[in-house]
Amino acid sequence: MADKFDVIVIGAGPGGYVAAIRAAQLGLKTACVEKWIGKEGKVVHGGTCLNVGCIPSKALLEASHKFVEAKHDFDDMGIQAGDVSMDVKKMMARKDTIVKNLTGGISGLFKANGVTAIDGTGKVLSKGQVEVTDQDGKATTYDADSIVIAAGSVPVEIPPTPLKEGLVVDSTGALEFQETPKRLGVIGAGVIGLELGSVWNRLGSEVTMLEAMDDFLPMVDTAIAKETQKLLKKQGLDIKLGARVTGSEVKGEEVVVKYTDAKGEQEMTFDKLIVCVGRKPYTKGVVADGAGVELDERGFIQVDDQCRTSLPGVFAIGDCVRGQMLAHKASEEGIMVADIIAGHKAEMNYDAIPCVIYTFPEVAWVGLNEQDAKAKGIEVKTGAFPFAASGRAMANNATEGQAKIIADAETDRVLGMHIVGQHAGEMIAQGVIALEFGSSAEDLALTCYAHPTMSEAVHEAALAVEGHAIHMANRKKKK
Ligand code: FAD
Ligand code: NAD
Repeated sequence: MADKFDVIVIGAGPGGYVAAIRAAQLGLKTACVEKWIGKEGKVVHGGTCLNVGCIPSKALLEASHKFVEAKHDFDDMGIQAGDVSMDVKKMMARKDTIVKNLTGGISGLFKANGVTAIDGTGKVLSKGQVEVTDQDGKATTYDADSIVIAAGSVPVEIPPTPLKEGLVVDSTGALEFQETPKRLGVIGAGVIGLELGSVWNRLGSEVTMLEAMDDFLPMVDTAIAKETQKLLKKQGLDIKLGARVTGSEVKGEEVVVKYTDAKGEQEMTFDKLIVCVGRKPYTKGVVADGAGVELDERGFIQVDDQCRTSLPGVFAIGDCVRGQMLAHKASEEGIMVADIIAGHKAEMNYDAIPCVIYTFPEVAWVGLNEQDAKAKGIEVKTGAFPFAASGRAMANNATEGQAKIIADAETDRVLGMHIVGQHAGEMIAQGVIALEFGSSAEDLALTCYAHPTMSEAVHEAALAVEGHAIHMANRKKKK
């Protein structure tokens, strides 16, 4: 007779493993089912985020950024580094070590918190029943009072560019190149395209990005998006907007990509092609037919604001449900759901989820941008401050970018914060807290910031909302 649990979580990505740990911490007998087979042929925890997503990409972004600094920027500071070169294989090995340590760490956290790890493929059979099939094909059925589906997502593939191992790859393949491609094509100038395109551009690839939309980063405040586009172009990323890919052909070690843009039909040849045009929910087979868990037309599991599915006692979180595909969104949903299962009141503020693109400089935002606020009919006032006027940014050799605050014109409440600049991903936490606590721009303006810090730009942007920035000629009249 298989064990009975209070909670069974299917999937050990940042949604599932966090849900399982929280549930166990709250005294619930918890199991977490995972099927991901790691490089060593064994089941590993951590999902997309730890294995092929957030963490490995950031390891490569950090290494490639340090390479650029050592090669081009140290000299300015008087550092004579000599001839700087990059050992790509060593960079990759470091990335793999980080992944191994972190995924192993999750298994350690499961043990420490009393979560039972079950290796295999989970399927919700009915209310309270999960079947797990192990690597040898043996199926076991477990009972649980509550079930959490955290099955994640996989890359979208498009017919014009079928994958070809090592040559036409998705984001997972792009994290495994063992040498720097000379000509790199990237389909999609979204988050993954910009991050992985940056990595290989920094290491010497000629990177061309083909983006179907006419607008660059439309979810970001237009002023910030425009500045980002300019900065990335200066770094050498050739971002072609309004470029619709129509086909591709592998010719030996090269791939020829056909696309149309405003000028007509075009063709480019690359040594490697990364296809990163979005991700889709990975829900195939995770629920038995007729079990009563409804999916929407795009394959997402349908949930309410508290992640309840249509089947009582079954929750779903993270990339396999509506909302932004972000690790921290998945984790917060995991915590909320565990709290609800344990009988606590819990909810999430979906309006205060930060987004970060880890280019250099980083792009980070939370809440509304100016154009969307106006489109909603909200009258806004804004304040912006350029890092060019920040003493710390000068000291850091990072004067590019700006911080911008969008506030309600009538109430002064902060509606959004958008930043492009070094460490924007760290600074955006201030915007998240402002939104969570319903702060006014004046609250931020009246807050004492440490000097010299990059965050002072947020302070100055808050002051600038009323035309009172100290280290900038204000365009608005002082009251
Ligand atoms: P996943 O992490 O996908 O985990 C789902 C898990 O469920 C997997 O381990 C899978 O094997 C398992 N599973 C699925 N079905 C079953 C089954 N039937 N039985 C057992 N197990 C199952 N987000 C950020 O916030 N910041 C970033 O910097 C960032 N960078 C990224 C970079 C890249 C290259 C990519 C691809 C993604 C990145 N993301 C980032 C997105 C982030 O990885 C996802 O939003 C996050 O992993 C979603 O978490 P999840 O738990 O919902 O799903
Ligand atoms: P994305 O949605 O960010 O970008 C995909 C881009 O591809 C879009 O700009 C889209 O217009 C374009 N596109 C779609 N079809 C196309 C086509 N046929 N030809 C040319 N362009 C096309 O998706 P992504 O970059 O693949 O990333 C997937 C998800 O992973 C993101 O939405 C994000 O949630 C998550 N992620 C987050 C981070 C982070 O937080 N730093 C990093 C990587 C990934």
